[in-house]
Amino acid sequence: MLQLFIPLGFLGIVYRQIKYALADMDLVFKLLEREPEIQDAPGAPALILRQGRLRFDGVSFHYQPERPILRDVDFRIEPGEKVAVVGHSGAGKSTLARLLFRSYEVNAGRILIDDQDIRDVTQQSLRGAIGIVPQDTVLFNDSIYYNLAYGRPDASREEVERAAELAHIRAFVESLPDGWDTVVGERGLKLSGGEKQRVAIARAILKRPRIMLFDEATSSLDSKTEQAIQQTLAEVAEDHTTLVIAHRLSTVVDAQRILVMESGRIIEQGEHRRLLADGGVYAAMWELQQREREQVPSAS
Ligand code: ADP
Ligand code: MG
Repeated sequence: MLQLFIPLGFLGIVYRQIKYALADMDLVFKLLEREPEIQDAPGAPALILRQGRLRFDGVSFHYQPERPILRDVDFRIEPGEKVAVVGHSGAGKSTLARLLFRSYEVNAGRILIDDQDIRDVTQQSLRGAIGIVPQDTVLFNDSIYYNLAYGRPDASREEVERAAELAHIRAFVESLPDGWDTVVGERGLKLSGGEKQRVAIARAILKRPRIMLFDEATSSLDSKTEQAIQQTLAEVAEDHTTLVIAHRLSTVVDAQRILVMESGRIIEQGEHRRLLADGGVYAAMWELQQREREQVPSAS
């Protein structure tokens, strides 16, 4: 009994991680031939998407009951606004993203999109509303064209190429001997972390969803490429509700609001200059990153 129990639990974790990374569950279900763990409420309607207002209302969450991860997290993002979440590793930033995507259920509080609790609508409609560039992008063992167009399967060739260009991956693809037909993934050409991130960014650009979610989306890129892609993302995300989880603070200075997380709580929030003036945790993190930059000028 015990033997059966452990592998299944483990599969559950792996499954949810893949689910989050892929941002498409139908395919994962097929791959794993397994029912989703989180079911739609019977007769749940589709999300009615208006401007894409997002709200976390007193959200608490744990993976295991004995270890609380998020504690009473409260914030709103108005349509078109960009809000950034920063904090040390393990603070609970990616967990926010997983909950928004409903890879896990909140234990207390609620998450609302345009005033609808995400538990009350179909997961398919929820997924359709959110474009996600995860920390680790999963690629299919298929052509790089397929992997990119996956963001919106009905996109034209021109649109796919344009998205690739905006994500700074087009020249790379076209330089490969098999070009767009190159098979990538575990059994094909292995892409670097930065290349995979750019594929994910291109997918999100193609999809143009109301709500954009970037989880350290440009962390594997060198600073120059990162800056260029940040510029693109700023343009793409212009009239989208955007939640950016960031490691490098230089990528969040333009956010309307920055939430600083520590041990699952929001301990500071405000706009960049305001947080610097307050001289708290954010200011200390900024100081530290500035110093690291000076020491290694070309660090990526
Ligand atoms: P961050 O993105 O801020 O680095 P995460 O949200 O990924 O942090 O993780 C917050 C905490 O939750 C960490 O302590 C991490 O170890 C834990 N955690 C993350 N995923 C799981 C999981 N699937 N099961 C149990 N604990 C997890
Ligand atoms: Mg994370």
